[in-house]
Amino acid sequence: MKTFLAILATAVAAGLLLLIVGCAPTPYERAPEALGLPEDAVRSVADGHVTLAGGGHAFAFTVGARPATVDGVRYHLHRPAGTLALAAVDAELLRAAAVGPAPRVPRPVILLDPGHGGSDVGCAFGKDQEHAIAHDVARHAAAVLRAAGCDVRLTRAADQGPTLQARVDQAVAAPPDAYVSIHVNAAANPEAKGIEVFTLPAPGCDGTPDNSRAASWPADLPGHAHLPQATRLALRAQAALLRLPGAPADRGVKHAYFKVLREVPAPAILVETGFITNAEDRARLTSPEGRQALGIAIALGILDSFAR
Ligand SMILES: [Zn+2]
Repeated sequence: MKTFLAILATAVAAGLLLLIVGCAPTPYERAPEALGLPEDAVRSVADGHVTLAGGGHAFAFTVGARPATVDGVRYHLHRPAGTLALAAVDAELLRAAAVGPAPRVPRPVILLDPGHGGSDVGCAFGKDQEHAIAHDVARHAAAVLRAAGCDVRLTRAADQGPTLQARVDQAVAAPPDAYVSIHVNAAANPEAKGIEVFTLPAPGCDGTPDNSRAASWPADLPGHAHLPQATRLALRAQAALLRLPGAPADRGVKHAYFKVLREVPAPAILVETGFITNAEDRARLTSPEGRQALGIAIALGILDSFAR
């Protein structure tokens, strides 16, 4: 009995240790290793700013804040950067998504999801409506992806408006290698502008919008299994969109419990292509050339997330 108790105690202690090690934050001095950067990566910690650079990658964190910079792109961490360490969830995801090798997929299946449609026009400014803009951007992205050898499908035709469930069902019936939902933003403040790309928050983490709380959702959603590649896809799409003419504002890679991100069993992102309520963004969204450029950028971001 004593032996059994001793074994039990050892097992519990080992389990606890594993739990602690598994969740332990990554001290900044060990961050290069945790992020997969070379040992001689340059580290600097000063005035609450941490920067790491090496192997062609650069990270910048601000102590106490979620916004960070990953290879030149604004990225919202799942946990605020600590005084002495980065949360394990962020170190692991960024290692896999930003530094680790991209998956090699000879003929990627891409499911593009133009938001809204049918009686749901989405946001609008005068005669310019989100559903039509999103579909046109998706159409241009599809052309580039097909030319690059991808198997591309759209969740809807220009005149259709399937439910969110129907869009998820399409992805469940034939899981793609990437699911990209395309939307247009709107705000009461006409100054609000720029591009943002969403992934599902990591298990147990709050999203970046205030209304996207972890407590409302289980920690094992279908999208969670694909988060590393979704994060890579988001970073690459955001980077490609920021290179557009007119240099759109970088609102960053963010996280939210959107239905398509939760329930699609594949790497899934939601791209907000700009604000219809901002003059600068609107010029891009409402011109045929602007929509084509947006579509090309999204396609290049998707292609960049695969090794080919
Ligand atoms: Zn929308």
